[in-house]
Amino acid sequence: MKVLKFGGTSVGSVESLRNVKDIVTGQKEPVIVVVSALGGVTNQLIEMTRLAQSGSNDYEPILAQVAQRHRDVIAGVVPEAMQGQCSAIVTQFIDNLHSFYGTLSLNRDLPQQEQQRLADAIVCHGEVMSSAIVACMIEGAVPHFSPNFIKTRERDGRHVLEAELTRQLIANEWPAVEGIHVAQGFIADDADEHFKTNLGRGGSDYTAALIAAALRADSQEIWTDVDGFYDKDPRKYDDARLLDQMTYAQAQELCDAGAKVIYPPTLRPVAELGIPVWVKNTFNPTVPGTVIR
Ligand code: ADP
Ligand code: ASP
Ligand code: MG
Repeated sequence: MKVLKFGGTSVGSVESLRNVKDIVTGQKEPVIVVVSALGGVTNQLIEMTRLAQSGSNDYEPILAQVAQRHRDVIAGVVPEAMQGQCSAIVTQFIDNLHSFYGTLSLNRDLPQQEQQRLADAIVCHGEVMSSAIVACMIEGAVPHFSPNFIKTRERDGRHVLEAELTRQLIANEWPAVEGIHVAQGFIADDADEHFKTNLGRGGSDYTAALIAAALRADSQEIWTDVDGFYDKDPRKYDDARLLDQMTYAQAQELCDAGAKVIYPPTLRPVAELGIPVWVKNTFNPTVPGTVIR
């Protein structure tokens, strides 16, 4: 069994989602697919929160654009028989967002904690919508809701992973893995009060690693928009060199130094169990990529 994580650019357009579908359905073993929000949507959700908190209605055209983008993607990738159902799901989430932003903009004196909880509930919607589309796109895919098994607790005002509880809940969620499963990256749930939380920006990589480790997957694959892990950012440096393999320690060092391709906490749970992590390109899937082990 493998855990495949697809980042924002990989699920960001009709063309890239078609690649995702081919990659997932081409696997010869059971897979759990972990998805990020459509590229740029998390930033838009946060920007709309800021606008609503300032009492402005300027979030409305952005929300209309977010809604239209998801509808366009559904029309482009979801089989016709599933399009109505998928659109209804996404429309429901867009309606939720309308009411969250309305609450924020009309109640500017809400206590800080309530504002923060609304903001956290809002930012979950990117992954909830993208995962609904991916699950509807792939026939027979089984949808899961990550806040049911990714748990955090508040410590010093931050959401901190409850590692052991999360491990047990993931094991309960998948007593066995057959076929194709889809879950959201990034999003989580407070273990005590059950408000929605998250693992931090870029956290979908970590969700995938937590699932891979809890289920002792054969491997984790991080599907992104570059051919693998380079010695430096290939978008900034023309002479960046693609590494075909790395140790966990080498990769961790580059992640800690800011290599955005893997969210820094990701490698630890899989490294402890010796689960190999591949970094691969959704837009160039025949390139082997980088293996970290
Ligand atoms: P995703 O949305 O798939 O999670 P990210 O934007 O988080 O993608 O990470 C991929 C990006 O990481 C690449 O587009 C690249 O610009 C950047 N990056 C930074 N350092 C490295 C590196 N050493 N190797 C590969 N990519 C890197
Ligand atoms: N969508 C979230 C973010 O933009 C999580 C992720 O992409 O990994 O930070
Ligand atoms: Mg990322």
